[in-house]
Amino acid sequence: MQLHNLKDDTQKVSFVEAVKTGLGRNQGVFFPESLAPMADIDALLDMDFVSRSSAILSHLIGDELPADTVAQMVQNAFNFPVKLVQVEDNVYCLELFHGPTLAFKDFGGRFMAECLAQFSQGEKTTILTATSGDTGAAVAHAFYNKPNIDVVILYPKGKISLAQQKLFTTLGNNIHCYAVEGSFDDCQSMVKNAFLDDEVKTRLGLNSANSINISRLVAQVCYYFEAIAQLPKEKRATAHVSVPSGNFGNVCAAMIGAVIGLPVAKLSATTNQNDTVPRFIADKNWAPNATIESLSNAMDVSKPNNWPRVQTMLDNNWFSYDNFYSTSVDENDTQAVMKAIQKTGYIAEPHTAIAYQGLKADLTPGSAGIFLATAHPAKFKESVEDILDIELDMPKPLADALAKPCLAQDIDNDYDALREIILAKLS
Ligand SMILES: *Cc1c(COP(=O)(O)O)cnc(C)c1O
Repeated sequence: MQLHNLKDDTQKVSFVEAVKTGLGRNQGVFFPESLAPMADIDALLDMDFVSRSSAILSHLIGDELPADTVAQMVQNAFNFPVKLVQVEDNVYCLELFHGPTLAFKDFGGRFMAECLAQFSQGEKTTILTATSGDTGAAVAHAFYNKPNIDVVILYPKGKISLAQQKLFTTLGNNIHCYAVEGSFDDCQSMVKNAFLDDEVKTRLGLNSANSINISRLVAQVCYYFEAIAQLPKEKRATAHVSVPSGNFGNVCAAMIGAVIGLPVAKLSATTNQNDTVPRFIADKNWAPNATIESLSNAMDVSKPNNWPRVQTMLDNNWFSYDNFYSTSVDENDTQAVMKAIQKTGYIAEPHTAIAYQGLKADLTPGSAGIFLATAHPAKFKESVEDILDIELDMPKPLADALAKPCLAQDIDNDYDALREIILAKLS
C-alpha cells in the first residue's frame, strides 16, 4: 500500500512506515494514493468473517506482508463476533461491542497492536497514550502480555467513569497506568512532552497508539463487509449505513469499503452537537466551534482528525457527495430517540441512538438501513439507566473488571515526575 501525506504530497510512505510513524509532516494524515476494487464481491460476502477479513486486509495492504501473516494477525485480533440484529422492518443494528472492552475500538486497537508487534520485531517498544475513557481500555487489552511491549496510560484522576477506569487499570503486567492530578488535556501535554524528549524516546522506544493510525482504519473496513454479508441477499443492493461520528475514522472506514466494492447505496455520518461536518456539508464553510460536552462523550470532537481522509474520497468522486449525508442530533433528541428505540424492544446507549436517528432521517422506504451500535449500553450505565428508567445487567468483562483492584499509581501533573518514574521502571 502506497500512502501519501494529505498535507504534503511529497511525503510518500509504505503501510509499515505509516503504521510506525502515525502522523506525517505538518500534522498531515496518511492516505492511500489509490484504492483498487476487489473482484467477485458475492464470493467474498459468502466467506466467514475471519477469512474474508484476511482477504480484505491483504488486498488493501498489498505485498508488504505475506497473506498468511495477515491471516494470523486477523485471527488474533478479531476473536469475538459481530452481530447484525433486526430492530424494525428494514432497520438493522450492527453490534460492534462484543469485544473485551465492549466498544468498536477493540477492532482497530487489536489490529494495530498486531501490526506494531509484528513490525517492531523484538525491539523494545513502549506505547504511551493519554485517554479520556474508551481508547485506554482498548489499547491496554490489545497489547496485554505482548512480548517486548510496555504500555503506559495516563488518565485524568476522577474524571472518567469507574467502569472505564477498571477496564484498564486492573490488568497489571506490561500495562502501567498513572492517574494524573489534572485534566485530559494535561495528560495529553505530558504525552507530547515525552515525544519531544529524545532520551526518553530512544531509551524506551516510544510509539503512540493514537486514533489516526491507518492500521485502525483498514481493520474497521472488515466489519462493514460482515454487516452486508449478514443482510438478506435481496436487500444488499439498497443498503444505507449510518455511523455515529466524532473523529470520523469509523465512517472513513465505511467509505473505503464502498470504494473497494462494498455494496452501500448511502452513507450517513451523524454527530452530536459538535456539528462541524454537518455544517460544512450544508454550506462548504469549515468553522469548528468550541467543543461541547454531551451524553455521547466519545463524539465530543469539533475538529475531526479523519475528516481530510473522508473529504479526499468525496472530492475525488470515489464516493459521491449525493450519497453522503451528515446531520446532527442534540441532547434532547438523543434522549427522545433512546426512548423511542426502547419501545421497539431494543436498548441503545447515546452514541447508538444518534446513529439510529441519522438513519431514520434519510432512509428511503424499501431500502435496508443499518445503524451502528458502537458501545454496549452498560458502558454508559448511568445515563442509560437514568433516561430509560431501567436496571442493566453488567456484562461479564465489566463485572470481572469492577471486582478487581485498581493498580494505577497517582502522579502529579508534572512531566518530570512521569519521566523519572518511567525511565526507572522501563528503560
Ligand atoms: C470513538 C467512538 C465513536 C466515534 O467514532 P469516530 O471513529 O471517532 O468517528 C462513537 N461511539 C463510540 C462509543 C466511540 O467510542
